[in-house]
Amino acid sequence: MIDKLVQEELELLSKDLYLESPSVWIDFVGKVNDNVFDELVLFFACKYNYLSIVKFSIENNLINLNFPSRNKEFKDIYSHLLNTAKNNSSKDIIDFLVSIKDNDSKKSKPKENKSKKNNSSYIPSFECKNCKANIFEEGYIISEEKVIKLIGDKLIEESESTLDYIKCNRCKSKLDLSPSDINIISKINHCSNCLSDLTEVGILDKKTMKYNENTKSFDTVDARYVCTKCESTINEKQKEYFKLK
Ligand SMILES: [Zn+2]
Ligand SMILES: [Zn+2]
Repeated sequence: MIDKLVQEELELLSKDLYLESPSVWIDFVGKVNDNVFDELVLFFACKYNYLSIVKFSIENNLINLNFPSRNKEFKDIYSHLLNTAKNNSSKDIIDFLVSIKDNDSKKSKPKENKSKKNNSSYIPSFECKNCKANIFEEGYIISEEKVIKLIGDKLIEESESTLDYIKCNRCKSKLDLSPSDINIISKINHCSNCLSDLTEVGILDKKTMKYNENTKSFDTVDARYVCTKCESTINEKQKEYFKLK
């Protein structure tokens, strides 16, 4: 699925990162192997000016640029990436990012009313096991860790990394979901419980049938569609999307 140009850029970027920091490199390689193109991967692609990686991820909807950035200085992933490209004079990427924003605003203005009911209105769901809130509505917390060292007589921030877990914003309990899972789960074709791609694992049509004494046959009393892998019920929007009745 990944074309040759993107593949080549990923290899080059991997080398750049290996030189920059082995721990970042390990993180990066892990994500790319899992086909995860999240904020971190794109941050480095913008930093080292690899346009094909950025284009590929955005055009294939592997990342939602409107999502909040893990870097609290920025309101969303888009602003973070644009800023990174600017700081590193990655001209092609700046042009590309600006052009998609332009297209977006041109497209969304006249169609605003119509497009409300389309996929753009899909609210993914992930239920906090503790308080039952949908974290996409209630919010979730991503935490960062900073390493600060005393160098000479100054406290210098050496590195910053995002902790690999998130918490429910309502009850603050740890969720069974990592920050990179957020991108996966926010896509309509993924199971909100086990994150499987439903178009790959399949959907089960589950009927509960009760024996009817009068007709001497079974009547369907409840029907629902579940993820083949974990058997959790798919949501209404997904039912609509897959045209299931
Ligand atoms: Zn909760
Ligand atoms: Zn599932």
